[in-house]
Amino acid sequence: MLPGIGPKTLEKLFRLNIREPIDFLYHFPHRYLDFSNIISIDQLSENNSYTISGILVSFQNIFTRTGKNIQRAKLSDNTGTIDLLWFNQSYIAKKFTVGQRYRFAGKVTKFKNQKTMVSPISGDHQTGKILPIYPETKGLNSTWFRKIISQNINQLLEQINDPIPPSIISLYHLPTLKLALKKIHQPQTNLEITQSRNRIAINETLSLLAQSHILKTSNGLKKANFQFSITPEIQQKIINFIKNLPFKLTDSQKASWLDIQADLLLSKPCNRLLVGDVGTGKTIVAMLASILASENNSTTVILVPTEILAQQHYQTFANLLPKYPIYLLTSNLKLKTNLPPNSIIIATHAILFKKEHLFKQIGLLIIDEQHRFGVSQRSFLANLPSPPHTITLTATPIPRTISLTFLNHLDLSILKLPPAFKLPIKTYLVPPHKITSCYAWLEKQIKSTGQQAFIVCPFIEDSEAMAQVKSAKTEFEKLKAVFPKLKLELIHGQIKPAQREKIFTDFKNKKIDILVTTPIIEVGIDFPNATTIIIQSADRFGLSQLHQLRGRVGRGVDQSYCYLFSESVNEKSLDRLQYLAKHQDGLTIAEYDLKTRGPGEVFSTLQHGFPSLKLADISDIKTVKIAQKIFADLQNLSTFDLKLIASNPDQGFTSTS
Ligand code: ADP
Ligand code: MG
Repeated sequence: MLPGIGPKTLEKLFRLNIREPIDFLYHFPHRYLDFSNIISIDQLSENNSYTISGILVSFQNIFTRTGKNIQRAKLSDNTGTIDLLWFNQSYIAKKFTVGQRYRFAGKVTKFKNQKTMVSPISGDHQTGKILPIYPETKGLNSTWFRKIISQNINQLLEQINDPIPPSIISLYHLPTLKLALKKIHQPQTNLEITQSRNRIAINETLSLLAQSHILKTSNGLKKANFQFSITPEIQQKIINFIKNLPFKLTDSQKASWLDIQADLLLSKPCNRLLVGDVGTGKTIVAMLASILASENNSTTVILVPTEILAQQHYQTFANLLPKYPIYLLTSNLKLKTNLPPNSIIIATHAILFKKEHLFKQIGLLIIDEQHRFGVSQRSFLANLPSPPHTITLTATPIPRTISLTFLNHLDLSILKLPPAFKLPIKTYLVPPHKITSCYAWLEKQIKSTGQQAFIVCPFIEDSEAMAQVKSAKTEFEKLKAVFPKLKLELIHGQIKPAQREKIFTDFKNKKIDILVTTPIIEVGIDFPNATTIIIQSADRFGLSQLHQLRGRVGRGVDQSYCYLFSESVNEKSLDRLQYLAKHQDGLTIAEYDLKTRGPGEVFSTLQHGFPSLKLADISDIKTVKIAQKIFADLQNLSTFDLKLIASNPDQGFTSTS
C-alpha cells in the first residue's frame, strides 16, 4: 500500500473497494465543487460558488439559548464586506486571527436578508480551484482523499498502460488515459472533467467489448458435446410436426428456427439467445430444437426456474411430442437411472446441478426465462470443456447497447408478437384511495364476462420465508372478505406441488375466479381467460419485471387490464410506474429501466460476471459506437493486445472465464 497507510486505514479503504495503490486512481469523484471563480466581494451573486480573498474584520463564537453554537465572521476586501457563517464549529476559532488576510470558498446564499457564505472553507489547497468530492466512508472524507491522491498521483500514473496507442488517440481527439486520470482528480476546467470522464467511459466500454470477444473466441475453439446432423427423414419429421400444430408459425418463429438449426449443425457449441416478449411463442421454437437433438440420439434438458413452469412445459411437450421420451425432473421427482439417450428432460435448475453426471449425455440445453438463474450455475456451464449446445430463452429484451457490448459473444434471435396478439393491455396506476373502487370494478367485470384475474402480492419467491407466507395468508383472508361472492385461491412457494397443480388445473377449468399469488406467476404461465392482473406494491418491482407480470394477461383475444397499486409518494417511482402504464413495448421499457436504474440492476443475472461500470453510461449508444470503432481500429494494429484492453482495473467484476 501507499506509505503512511496503516492497517486501520486499510480496513476503511476496503469498504470502498480500494485494495491496491492503483485503486486510488480509479476512485473517481462523484461530483465537484467549483471554487475556481476568484472574484471581488461586490461581484458575488447568490446561489453561486466562489473564492474570495480579504481581511477578517470580526470573528464571534456564539452560543444560542437553545444550546446551539454558531460562528460568525466578516470579511472585507477593497470592494465590500460579506458575512461568513458556520454551525457548531467552535474549533475553527483557533484557525483565524482578526486583522489577517484569508481566502475563503463557498456558496453565497441569503441569510437573515444578508448575502452570506455558509460554512466556507479556507486554505490555499482548497480554494481557487475545482474541488473533487469523493465517495467517502466513516473516517475517510474527501479532504483526506484529495490529500493522499495529490501526494501520490504522479507516481501512480507511471504505472498506467494506455490500451489505446497515440495514433488512435489523436484520430479521435481523446486525452491520453494518463491525462484523463490526472484531470478527473485535479481538473482546472469543467471541460477537462467532461473529456476525462468520456475517455474513461470509452475505456470501460472497450474492456467490455474485449471481454466479450475473449468469450466468443474461447467458445469458438471448443467443440460441442454432440454434433447434430439433419437427414431427410429428420427433416420430414420436423416438417410434419410443424404442419400438425394447431397454428401457423409466425415469420419470426420460422426465422429463429432457421438460425438455431444452422447453429446446431456446427461443431462449435451454439450459444444463442432467443429473445421474445411474453407470448411470442418461444416454447415451440425450443421444441423444434429438442426434436432435432432427440432424433440425433442425444439428451435435451430444458431448465426452468419454477416447478409450476416445469409442469406446464412437461404437459405441453407430452401433448405435442407423444412419441418422444419426456421426463419431468423436480425436487420431488426422482429420475430413473437409465434414461434413453434421446430423452427430453424438463428440469428445475436446483436439482439439475446436483446431477453433473447427466451432463455427459446432454447435447442440447435450453434455459427458459434465464433471468432467474444463478451465477454459479452459469459459470459451471461456461467452464465445461465441451459444453452442450445452449439456447437461452428470455423475455427481457436486450437494448442494442447491451447486445453490442456485454453480450457481443452471444448470437441473438428475436421473436416478434404476432399481430393478433397486439391488443395493448390497459394499464393504470391506482393510488390507495382508489383501491376500493378498483376491487368493485373487478367484481363486476368477473361476473359479467366470466373472465379471471390475478392479484399479485409482493412476496419475493426466493425468500418466501414463513413470515412472508403468513402475510400472504393474511392478505388472502382480507381479499376473501372483499370478494365474498367470488372463488379465490392462494398460491405460493410453500404449497406442495400436487396441491399447486390442482390449483392451476382448477384455475384453467374456471373453478377459481381470482388467483392470489406471489410473483411466482411471473414466468411463463399461460391462461388466456385471465384478463386482469392487479399488482400490489408495484413500486417494489423493477419495470422489466412488472412488464413480465403484466404479460400474464393479454394472452387471449379479449381486452386485458393491469392495475398497479402503489402507496409510494416518491415521485421517481411513480414516474416509473406511469412510464409502464404508457408503454407496451418490452424493449422500450427495458431501455428506460436501463437509463434509470443502470445495467447492474436490470441485467444483473443475465450473464455471469456482469461488471459494475463506474462512468460508462451503457444506455448511451454514442459512447458504445465510438468504443466499437476504436476496438475495430485496435484489432488492425500489429500491437493488438486483447488482454490489456480487457483488463481494466476500473472494474470489480468477477472472472468471466
Ligand atoms: P412465451 O414466448 O411467452 O414463452 P409461449 O411459448 O408460452 O410464449 O406461447 C404462448 C402461447 O401462444 C401458447 O399458448 C402457444 O401455444 C401459442 N403460440 C405459439 N406460437 C403461436 C403461433 N405461431 N400462433 C398462434 N399461437 C401461438
Ligand atoms: Mg415461456
